[in-house]
Amino acid sequence: MKYIYRFEEGNKDMRRLLGGKGANLAQMTALGFPVPSGFTISTEACQAFYDNQNQLNDETLAQIDEALEQLSAKVGKSFGSSNNPLLVSVRSGAAISMPGMMDTILNIGLNDQTVQVLAKMTDNERFAYDSYRRLLAMFGNVVYEIPEETFDQVLEDIKTMNHYDSDLDLTVKDLHTIVGKFKELYIAQSGKEFPQDPKVQLLAAVNAVFESWNNHRAQVYRRENHIASNLGTAVNVQMMVFGNAGEDSGTGVAFTRNPATGENKLFGEYLLNAQGEDVVAGIRTPQPISTLAETMPDLYNEFVATAKKLEIHYRDMQDLEFTIEHGTLYMLQARNGKRTPTAAVKIAVDLVEEGLLSRTEALLRINPDSVGAILYPEFDEDQLKQSQPAASGLPASPGAASGQIYFTAESAKAAHDDKHEQVILVRQDTSPEDIEGMVISEAIVTSRGGMTSHAAVVARGMGTPAAVGVNDLQVDYKNGVASIKGNQLQEGDWIFVDGTNGNLYLGKIQTNDSKVNDDLSTILKWSKQEGDLGVYANADTPADFTQALKFGADGIGLTRTEHMFFKPERLLEMRRLIIAEDVEQRKAPLEQLQTMQQGDFYELYRLSEGRSVTIRLLDPPLHEFLPHDSEEIAKVSDQLGIDPDYLTRRVDSLKEINPMLGHRGDRLAVTFPDIYEMQVRAIIGAALTLHDQGLEIEPHIMIPLTGSKAEMQWVRDIVVNQVERLFDQKGAKLDYTVGTMMEIPRACLTADKVAEVSDFFSFGTNDLTQLTYGFSRDDIGSFMPEYIQKGLLKADPFQTVDVDGVGELMRMAVEKGRFTKPRLPIGVCGEIGGDPKSIEFFESINVSYVSCSPYRVPVARLAAAQARI
Ligand code: ADP
Ligand code: MG
Ligand code: MG
Repeated sequence: MKYIYRFEEGNKDMRRLLGGKGANLAQMTALGFPVPSGFTISTEACQAFYDNQNQLNDETLAQIDEALEQLSAKVGKSFGSSNNPLLVSVRSGAAISMPGMMDTILNIGLNDQTVQVLAKMTDNERFAYDSYRRLLAMFGNVVYEIPEETFDQVLEDIKTMNHYDSDLDLTVKDLHTIVGKFKELYIAQSGKEFPQDPKVQLLAAVNAVFESWNNHRAQVYRRENHIASNLGTAVNVQMMVFGNAGEDSGTGVAFTRNPATGENKLFGEYLLNAQGEDVVAGIRTPQPISTLAETMPDLYNEFVATAKKLEIHYRDMQDLEFTIEHGTLYMLQARNGKRTPTAAVKIAVDLVEEGLLSRTEALLRINPDSVGAILYPEFDEDQLKQSQPAASGLPASPGAASGQIYFTAESAKAAHDDKHEQVILVRQDTSPEDIEGMVISEAIVTSRGGMTSHAAVVARGMGTPAAVGVNDLQVDYKNGVASIKGNQLQEGDWIFVDGTNGNLYLGKIQTNDSKVNDDLSTILKWSKQEGDLGVYANADTPADFTQALKFGADGIGLTRTEHMFFKPERLLEMRRLIIAEDVEQRKAPLEQLQTMQQGDFYELYRLSEGRSVTIRLLDPPLHEFLPHDSEEIAKVSDQLGIDPDYLTRRVDSLKEINPMLGHRGDRLAVTFPDIYEMQVRAIIGAALTLHDQGLEIEPHIMIPLTGSKAEMQWVRDIVVNQVERLFDQKGAKLDYTVGTMMEIPRACLTADKVAEVSDFFSFGTNDLTQLTYGFSRDDIGSFMPEYIQKGLLKADPFQTVDVDGVGELMRMAVEKGRFTKPRLPIGVCGEIGGDPKSIEFFESINVSYVSCSPYRVPVARLAAAQARI
């Protein structure tokens, strides 16, 4: 079995085997870019490691020896050499990029002897000992699990004692002291010495990286990002080049385009005389890459050209890591850059315009779920103008959010989980340990670090607003307080963060509805050309509908008329109607309600400008409209001028044990036909008014909760009679349809018959799922999480369609329905109608349209196109 590949042997298509980092190092080597030599220990070696009780097997060990020999021969350095010692980095890299998740160790090969050789060779003792102390800290952390902070604290103490501002002030003597203290820490904290043998160091590091695949934070990241846990990681062993070799050296990271906005402009940061993670860790504030153009123009030009070539080669925005050693450029990593949803959309559109991508490729590049994030509200402009930002940092990740601040990932997570708070994580800087707190935060703020700091990168990846490097902010972990220019902040205080400009505000600021920007409109336009699945909105009010139209909805797939009854003056009439004793008493409130509903429908139809609007007749059980406790009963009986005892009795008589399985939907029509009749008059009346005004509307009337053809026939007759009567009265006619929701399994099983009396179907996936599983949707909280955790359910079937069960019923209903009526329009309404995975399935069973909340419309549109491509 071949477990090891030299960089010269691989290429970018070998991600599974070499991990993303390894595959791209190989690819850059093949393209002739300056990559320090090395080799990759494959993910298969990682699996073999797990199969061999977490030990490297003999074959892997032998191949490592061979690869080391080849590397030594190639670069003319060897482990432990007393005149030219080989130093390497051990870098993890999984098939799917997991930034900051796995561990990397630099400067392996240094020990008490080689550090002196290095000092002499380079005539730079400071550099040699700086490298050694870094190795000791990284190795101690990764291999012996000594907390990073323990090492940091030693540095901090020496800096404080000597009043140093920066790591650069550390003297050779300080570094000797630090190295000594680090070695003592090894003994004190782990009882083990630092291994002096470079080979032992290397193998321990490889072991630790393989083990780190299963560390807690890697698991959390994989869970969050739905990455399979059996892929394993690869390990790259690479000759060191030194960014900490002096002021003509440095290390940096860059994106070929702006990862926050997508702007087509090289974007990056570097630090001189620094190594590895210094830039990302926010230890010193890095310089923008553009300044290199002045200080090292040749190198800058070489880098710009390299970046452009890589972008064209990969046909995507690249995230690059580089190091400069005595004025020479080395490329250390290239990968497709993480970006905000806003940037993803802009970059996709731009790459099409630049001729690098086709439209369909561009559509596939965007994660539909992330499109929702672009539509998140922004701060109210007017209120913003009147407020002063309390502080300002770098705009690391756009969008705005409000929340209560917490200074540790643990306290943020606890407040979020236990108290259901909207939280904002506020820290000096973040590290991979903070991932769980970052995931649940509405926004992230750090006092230190640059645009490529851990906080910034992770926030952009998650589409979470972030401001970093907020210099006026101090976070005092010890005392659990923060301050901004003299204002003290405690955990739990509210702040507002605008990641688009990096501003922070104290106090509450309203948020606004968001707009669709030009690039997103382009994507939505292309999507519409690509997909033929209709995308409609669930909209009950003109405001909802207006929003949905802005987001490109084809019309309304579901108007829930009951929502229209909950305004106070309507609720009163509705209550009068429900408690009425006979048909006579019901007339007056019905007339009132009809006028109000007709007005509502008129507005929706007018806004539709002729687009399809489907209105569902009353669905919920009547008792939902009645008061529930004695206090409310007293108030309502007073309003209605009736006896509270009578009202109490009426409320009791309407109470049901299982209201969701009770007296609702078309069961109401069978017992109280006058309510549906009123609604039909309102619908047709509104359409006729618009007809008079010159706008043709074809009303689509939808009946909820149908279980059989007979039932549908009964209700349909009620509807049709009313419509025809109204046509006669007004001497006008319209086309209209009467269809049914498909949400009772029996209706699906007999769909061929139900179709005989239905003009369209619309799956109500909430009820259908509820009834297929026998899960009460309102009670799943007590067991669903365990089902998912124990793997009894793959996902919450109310969020992603259960293809095998509910999906099978749907497939059957589509087939049977279209057997009766080949052109039967069939929709899906409910939140699931906006879920990309579900949409893929709906498309496959030939559903004609989906309908979802306005904010999901763009998501569904893109998902529909992707399902089609
Ligand atoms: P991560 O996956 O967390 O980005 P990397 O393996 O890329 O970890 O290593 C982090 C940083 O360490 C790199 O950005 C680079 O600056 C530095 N580094 C890694 N290997 C080398 C090397 N051979 N020479 C110099 N610097 C290196
Ligand atoms: Mg890296
Ligand atoms: Mg329903």
